[in-house]
Amino acid sequence: MSIQITTLSENTASRMGLLAEWGISILIEADNHKILFDTGQSFSAAYNAIALGIDLSQIDKIVFSHGHTDHTGGLLHILKIMKTQVEVIAHPDIWAAKYVKRPERREEYIGVPFPKEAAESLGASFRLSKEPVWLSENIVTSGEVPMLTEYEKIDSILYVKEQGELKPDPLWDDQAIFIKSEKGLIIILGCAHRGIINTLRHAQKLTGVEPIYAVIGGTHLMAASSGRMDLTIAELLSFGVQRLGACHCTGLPAATILAQAFGENFFFNNAGTRINL
Ligand SMILES: [Zn+2]
Ligand SMILES: [Zn+2]
Repeated sequence: MSIQITTLSENTASRMGLLAEWGISILIEADNHKILFDTGQSFSAAYNAIALGIDLSQIDKIVFSHGHTDHTGGLLHILKIMKTQVEVIAHPDIWAAKYVKRPERREEYIGVPFPKEAAESLGASFRLSKEPVWLSENIVTSGEVPMLTEYEKIDSILYVKEQGELKPDPLWDDQAIFIKSEKGLIIILGCAHRGIINTLRHAQKLTGVEPIYAVIGGTHLMAASSGRMDLTIAELLSFGVQRLGACHCTGLPAATILAQAFGENFFFNNAGTRINL
């Protein structure tokens, strides 16, 4: 099975002519499918796809990693170019009223920035599932990720608003995509809000495949303590990860630590990065 992963949008760009924007969007071509995982924050994914010569109308499924704006906000731009019906797979909680509230700052809305009907009128049909969804014989969404490690915690500045009140967001909608390949599992992360290691352990359990060959996407280590970094790196090494393309909410300080730990096996996965696995 040939597997090609192209990052359409990320916080940084790999070359001139591409846009960078806080968020992520990754095109997965495998198993005779073209699956778009997240859509970036606004028009960067659509713009970069055109710049990279990618025909968006060929995409047959879109998956949302969670409801935050930087992953969902590009959908309408993508749909306008696709001009075709497409299934959008996500957890029902993407539609929760999501906020960030930093100390001494006002709350900010960071949920899906359009009504569901706006996407439906452009051809999206939502398949909302808390369970894993098999997208092909070898590609599956994670569904809800159990939190098993002691050291991975959900960011305390993230909330949902219910009846006018902010409550900590459990991020049940946080999902990844798992691909079974001959080399082992390939894990594509959105933000890994429920923990990168929790997500990897869940991937092994769900697919029954132990070796983890590649991990690509946001790892949400930007506020990780050095203790958590050490434990995370030790587990990643014990999984035998051979390609680590951390980006987005990994944050540059954590990315440099990972780059040191993984040497040649690390790459910074920015907009325009294309890898064949
Ligand atoms: Zn997020
Ligand atoms: Zn994000």
